[in-house]
Amino acid sequence: MNSIVFPCPCGNALQAPPEQIGQSIPCPRCGGMATVPNASADGFHLVYAPGMQEIGQPMSMEDIQQALQVGTLTSHDLILWKGTWLPLGSVFELPDPAPPEIAAESPSLPTSFSQLPPIPGSNPKGLRQSTSLSTKRKGPLSALLIALAIVAIGIIFAILLIVRN
Ligand SMILES: [Zn+2]
Repeated sequence: MNSIVFPCPCGNALQAPPEQIGQSIPCPRCGGMATVPNASADGFHLVYAPGMQEIGQPMSMEDIQQALQVGTLTSHDLILWKGTWLPLGSVFELPDPAPPEIAAESPSLPTSFSQLPPIPGSNPKGLRQSTSLSTKRKGPLSALLIALAIVAIGIIFAILLIVRN
């Protein structure tokens, strides 16, 4: 016969060998004494996960389900179910695995060229400066051309007037 799994009055799950039926055993959580019943209590089971004592750890169904949800226990860990060690996944309907977290802190992808990091060796600022310089140069140059044209037209008119007279 397997260990008897039952709750302490404080709610902690306890286990005891069948030889201890009717005896009182100390509860490691509350320090009180609990009487070992004739049979395991409903909803209390032994669970085994790597790192636990080999005899298994007494747990309530609620605790097992909670442990499965937070990941302390996995579907591959074992439960002593009707006298047989079974994977928890075959006894419990497990919640869907949580979707991978797409963290808010993950860098967002650039959506325009201006958001892209500068390419090593290039100097977009310098490029912009040189284009603005060339437009500045265009200004005085065109003004000079216009002035020259006006002067030329004036000279032509003056020559025409002189020729007529
Ligand atoms: Zn207790």
